[in-house]
Amino acid sequence: MLGATIGSFLNVVIYRMPRGMSLSEPRHSICPKCRHRLSGADLIPLFSWLMLAGKCRYCQVKVPGRYFAVELFTGVVWAAIWNQYFINDADWPRAIAYMAASAALVAIIWIDWELYLIPDQINAFLAFVGIAYNIYLYSVNSPFKETWGMPSALAGWLVGVAVLWGIAFLGRLLFGKDAMGHGDIKMARGIGAVLFPAVALISFGLAVVLGAVLGIAQVLWLRTRATSAEVEEEDEEPYVPESLGSLLKCGFGYLIGIDIIGLFYVPLYEKWYGENPYAVPDDLETFEAGNTMIPFGPYLALGAIVATMFSQQLVQGVDNYLNWATGRRVEIHREKSAGTLSPGPRSSDVGLMSCGVTTELCV
Ligand SMILES: [Zn+2]
Repeated sequence: MLGATIGSFLNVVIYRMPRGMSLSEPRHSICPKCRHRLSGADLIPLFSWLMLAGKCRYCQVKVPGRYFAVELFTGVVWAAIWNQYFINDADWPRAIAYMAASAALVAIIWIDWELYLIPDQINAFLAFVGIAYNIYLYSVNSPFKETWGMPSALAGWLVGVAVLWGIAFLGRLLFGKDAMGHGDIKMARGIGAVLFPAVALISFGLAVVLGAVLGIAQVLWLRTRATSAEVEEEDEEPYVPESLGSLLKCGFGYLIGIDIIGLFYVPLYEKWYGENPYAVPDDLETFEAGNTMIPFGPYLALGAIVATMFSQQLVQGVDNYLNWATGRRVEIHREKSAGTLSPGPRSSDVGLMSCGVTTELCV
């Protein structure tokens, strides 16, 4: 229910933020068609949409299914994180970091899906969540505070920029195409800062798999809807990829966080990127996605959300695979059994001792 309530707020973010509207003004929600102020009974997460059958109570205009879907999805994701870090394991700081990050990623999925853009503010928020979580880990001197001799969030930040910017750079160099949107690079940086390098890399792998499977299905579906004339017209549009110099300058800016500092000091952003970070694109409302365009952002965000829900299982899975692939599985198993045997089990438990996992439970 908490997640669904946050999902209700995310619906406000998804609508207002890319349109340059304030999140706090107007303070109350209104129906965009009849302008009627919505009451508390219209704003109960999940239930209001169902009770009103997806229509405005006052003018009967259809309320998009997105409102229900975002609330439900955020609720499910938060329930999974809650289960993992409050019930199976007592790691509430990580739960809070993952809940905040997954909420931001949910907003990204829908904004990028609809408008092919990712607001810089959300990418900056992701980075802040990662940095705050890492500072907490330092305060309790957690062994996870550092990776490769540097703060884990910084290591993840570097990995995120390196992998996504690297793909963009190679795609531009080898194929002369814009292989990756800049928003994706900034998002990957935030994902790395929150999830740290190992889990972030797993989430990027998940994104590629999800993108391949769902993306192909999406293109096929869009192609069947589009007339052949439309497809031809799109293919004939002149294509001018970004210059390598611009890609290098932007990439370096993301590495040192110019786009984040620039949100607070706009002249810096304008000087570096040549545009205002809060400017709303002119063609926002008329923009129609191409019939064959697949945004990678939603898959990147979805992969990271799945990683927040199942990080332990994913890391365990990769570990198991590596052990199996390198043939070291037996050795690790034996070490574990020897360690857990030492406290001296009760005789009634001996029957379970053959397996290292059950031994731990008994002791
Ligand atoms: Zn209405």
